[in-house]
Amino acid sequence: MLSSNSEARLESYQRLLSLSQVLTSTLDLLELLDLIVNAARDLTRTEATSILLVDAKTGDLYFEAVTGSKSDEIKRVIVPPNSLAGWVVREGQVEIINDVSKDDRFYAQSDVRTGFQTRALIGVPLKVKERVIGVLEAINPADGRSFTDEDVELLTTLSAQAAIAIENARLFHQSDLISEMVHELRTPLTSIVAYSESLLRQEVPPEMAREFVETIFQEAQHLADMTNAFLELSRLQSGRTRFQMVPFAIIELIDDVINLLRPQAEERGLTLHVVVPDRRLRIIGDRERIRQVLVNLVSNAIKYNKPDGEVWLELEPLPDTALTRVTVRDTGRGIPEKDLPHIFEKFYRVADNEGYAQGTGLGLNIVKQLVEAHGSRMLVNSQVDVGTTFSFTLKAVPGE
Ligand code: ADP
Repeated sequence: MLSSNSEARLESYQRLLSLSQVLTSTLDLLELLDLIVNAARDLTRTEATSILLVDAKTGDLYFEAVTGSKSDEIKRVIVPPNSLAGWVVREGQVEIINDVSKDDRFYAQSDVRTGFQTRALIGVPLKVKERVIGVLEAINPADGRSFTDEDVELLTTLSAQAAIAIENARLFHQSDLISEMVHELRTPLTSIVAYSESLLRQEVPPEMAREFVETIFQEAQHLADMTNAFLELSRLQSGRTRFQMVPFAIIELIDDVINLLRPQAEERGLTLHVVVPDRRLRIIGDRERIRQVLVNLVSNAIKYNKPDGEVWLELEPLPDTALTRVTVRDTGRGIPEKDLPHIFEKFYRVADNEGYAQGTGLGLNIVKQLVEAHGSRMLVNSQVDVGTTFSFTLKAVPGE
């Protein structure tokens, strides 16, 4: 007859085994980390668990996934090297503190953000071969007990599986993005090589030579746009983009964007309208990133418009909230219903009537990620040959 203690233990190991299959079933990093922290909490029966990862470039150690109520507040917070987690990364060994008040390696700042009061803490290194890629932490065992060797054993087994799963998910996404990028670069490159080669090899009449050089120039510019977008995208995708959320007067930004894009609009005979109920409106966000969002949406509204068409950029404070809706509307060619669900995907472009797609197909994907980083969502409405409306919300400074 098994004692209830060993029964519980057996059950934990069974869960651990079935978990190893679940962990290899997803390559979505955030989903995977969520699975791991929840499993760690259940297995060790603790109040909360978290995963900290090492930033490969800066060496910073930051929270990436946390269980518990206020968990969002702690995400992306960097912990100092002299914390317990920092120690675990450096030494590559498990460490337990059963009374944090007696250990100055405990980083109390995390408690302030999570609302937890940490009593006991265990940190297990996440190792791939001999490299430590992060730390799995658990705090406060249930019923006021202390952490035991069994907890160490369970967490070590889990962390070995978790580290491999995390590394796989990261590698998969990297190679995925890189191969997609290379594929996209190939088209303009092929055309640059072909046109410049014929210029070099053959006698080309001057008129035609000029056309060739123009094509080469356009394709080279396209390449430059793409490389910039790739950089931006890979920064966003790795989660290392830092946002500076500050209050600022949005009208200045709008004036800026409109002045920048007016020549393009005029060239196509389009009219730009700005509708802002209150020019003093201040919003909270990352100024440069919001500028990027607006430039992208307005230049699409210009690019995909019809001759003599119109573009509106509107701000509208929403009643009973501190939110302001930002809308970019055009009278352009619209987006067919079948394409609409895909336009925020990377590299997705809608071919025009001649079956030709210009642009990088990355703009809207970047816009979506930037808007989501501001706690909002991109909405789109479109009707073919009538026009398209994109909107999202921003937080306004309350009481102003
Ligand atoms: P691109 O660099 O091709 O403009 P985006 O990601 O900005 O890439 O847009 C993706 C696709 O969505 C575009 O190729 C275009 O077909 C469609 N699209 C975006 N904005 C509009 C718009 N305002 N009107 C019509 N189609 C649009």
